Amino acid sequence: MSFTLAIVGRPNVGKSTLFNRLVGKRLALVDDQPGVTRDLREGEARLADLRFTVIDTAGLEEATDESLQGRMRKLTERAVQMADVCLFVIDARAGVLPADEVFAEILRRSSRHVILAANKAEGRAGEAGLVEAYSLGLGEPLRLSAEHGEGMSELLTALHPIA
Ligand code: GDP
Ligand code: MG
Repeated sequence: MSFTLAIVGRPNVGKSTLFNRLVGKRLALVDDQPGVTRDLREGEARLADLRFTVIDTAGLEEATDESLQGRMRKLTERAVQMADVCLFVIDARAGVLPADEVFAEILRRSSRHVILAANKAEGRAGEAGLVEAYSLGLGEPLRLSAEHGEGMSELLTALHPIA
């Protein structure tokens, strides 16, 4: 059975880096599909033996008249609705910021399965943030480095019960 994973979290935590690592060049195949908006990118991911659809919440970085909070909420809620499972990414180096709490609340209230990930955790720089992540009330955080490809087998293990 195939499933859809939504990568959510505030800007700059590494969502797109992870999306690109999971999807690679296969994004080009889905780019022109109707219904794929500029703010939600969709691709076919491969992780070892798993094949699944992955959604990246983009577009939050651009300035518009609407408040970032409002857009964050709307976009995240839309992505969560489309997903079977959500990967909530925080920046382990920055720790838990107030904006992260907004996402945590949306996810806790959704009926979706949530995997919490502390990204940028290569080396020792993310240790404190990894511990802080428990305070979000979403279980044990995965230790990831999207840029360096660390934590991918742990992500695979976390996804296997859903697949
Ligand atoms: P997004 O806004 O959440 O999509 O974040 P991006 O994927 O655009 O990444 C934001 C910045 O964080 C970029 O400069 C990335 O190179 C950097 N970044 C992403 N993943 C990692 C990581 O695992 N470790 C470190 N040190 N930097 C990362
Ligand atoms: Mg992005």
